[in-house]
Amino acid sequence: MDINSKVDLLKEKLVEAVQDVVRVKSVEGEPKAGMPFGEGPANALELVLTIASDLGFKVVNLDNYVGYAEYGTGEEYVGVLGHLDVVPEGSGWKYPPYAAEIHDGKIYGRGTTDDKGPIMSALFGLKALVDSGATLSKKVRVIFGTNEESGSKELEYYLAREKPPISGFTPDAEYPIINGEKGITTFDLVKELSVKSESEISIEYIRGGQKSNMVPDYCEAGVKADLKSSVIESCYHFAERTGYDLKAEEKDDLVIIKAFGISAHGSLPELGKNAIMELFAFLGELDLGKSDILDLINFFNKYVGLETNGESFGIGLEDEISGKLSFNLGVVNIDEDKAILALNIRYPVTKTYEELMNPFNEKISGTGMVIENMQHQEPLYFPEDHELIKTLQKVYTEQTGEEAKLLSIGGGTYAKEMPNIVAFGPIFPGKPDLDHQANEYIEIDDLVANAKIYANTILELAK
Ligand SMILES: [Zn+2]
Repeated sequence: MDINSKVDLLKEKLVEAVQDVVRVKSVEGEPKAGMPFGEGPANALELVLTIASDLGFKVVNLDNYVGYAEYGTGEEYVGVLGHLDVVPEGSGWKYPPYAAEIHDGKIYGRGTTDDKGPIMSALFGLKALVDSGATLSKKVRVIFGTNEESGSKELEYYLAREKPPISGFTPDAEYPIINGEKGITTFDLVKELSVKSESEISIEYIRGGQKSNMVPDYCEAGVKADLKSSVIESCYHFAERTGYDLKAEEKDDLVIIKAFGISAHGSLPELGKNAIMELFAFLGELDLGKSDILDLINFFNKYVGLETNGESFGIGLEDEISGKLSFNLGVVNIDEDKAILALNIRYPVTKTYEELMNPFNEKISGTGMVIENMQHQEPLYFPEDHELIKTLQKVYTEQTGEEAKLLSIGGGTYAKEMPNIVAFGPIFPGKPDLDHQANEYIEIDDLVANAKIYANTILELAK
C-alpha cells in the first residue's frame, strides 16, 4: 500500500497522540535533578518517547535535554528536528489552552502548531513509511528538542554527544521552504550619564519595552520641571502635530510622559510602532540643557527615529534574497546615572557580521556608548540548486500541486543551530500563523497533510 494511504490509516492515532502531548504543559520551568528545563518539558519528552516506542521505534533520551526515535541502520542519518517545549499560554483563549479540545476540525491548544503537532506528524509519517514497506539506505531520526523557545540549549548538549544529520528539516516555520534566515545580533548599548542637566527641565528616568526582539508598545519618562503645566501642554501639542500617541500627567513632583506604540516581532519591526522612539522624539524638543542624556536622545533621533532598516545609522544593508536589514530598539532603561538600550538587529543572509558592526562601531565612536552582552547568530543560506532544497521542492510540489517557492525570513529556527537542515512547513501558504498567540490551533486536515509531506520527504532523503 502506498505511503499516503498508510498515513490515512494512522489519522486517529495521530490526533490522539497530539492531544495527549498538548495536555502536558511544557513551559520552561525551574531546573530540577535530571530535568534541566523543569518538569513540563521532561514530562512531554517522556510521553512522546513512550508513544514512539509503542510505534516500534528505538528511542533514546539524552538526560531529558533532548530525545529521539530512530529507524533503520547505518552510520549516517536523516534528521527531522522539532520541539516539545511551548511558550506560556497568555490570555484571551476561547477554549482551555491545555485541554486539546477539537472544534470544527481543529485541535486547540498551546503547542498544537508550534511545534507538537508538526513533530508528531513527522513521527507518524515515519511510521507510515515503515508500514508501506519502503526500503531506506540511511537511518532516520525524529529528534525532540525541549528548549527551542528559550535558547535551544539542548542542541549544544546533543551535538556534544551525537553527530549531526547529513540532511533533514525542522517543521517549525512555514511552507514552502525557508532557505534563508538573517543573521541576528542582540546586544545592549550602555552609557554612563556623568554630565547632568542644569536646566529647569531634567529627566529622572525613562523605561520602556519588554524584550529586545519585540517592538515596544509602551514607554514612559519621569520629567522634573519647574513649570509642569508647560511640559504637559507641549506634550499635547507635539502629539497633535505628529499623530504620536502620547499622554502627560502630574504625579508627585514629576511629570509622567507616556508613549503608546504598536507591538510586533523584532524580525518585522516595520509592522509595529516604536513607543520608545516616539517618546524620544518628544523629549528631544524639551529644553534639557547640555547633558549626556540629551546627547543620547539626539543621537537616536538623528540616526534612528522611526526607521527600521538602519539606513540613517549607516548600516542599511540589503540583498535580493532576504531584503533589508531590520533594526529594533526593544528595551530602554535609563536612570540619572546610566542608560541601557537593548537592540535587536538582523542582517541579510549574504552579508557578514563585520559589514554590520564596522560601520555600527564607527557611528557610536566618541559618543560614550559601549556595546555589552553581544549575542550573535550567523545567517543561514542554502542556494537554490542545493540538493536538499531541490528534494524538498520536488516533494512539496508532488504532494500539494503548488509551486515550491523559496522564502527568506528574519526569524531564527533550529536550522541555525543544527547543521544540514532547513525549515520546511508546517503552516501552508495563506493560513494564519498563530504561534505564540491565543487560540493557537492546528487543523486536523493540515496535520494529516503534513504527515504525508514529511513521510514522502523522509523517503526521498533516506532512500
Ligand atoms: Zn517553534
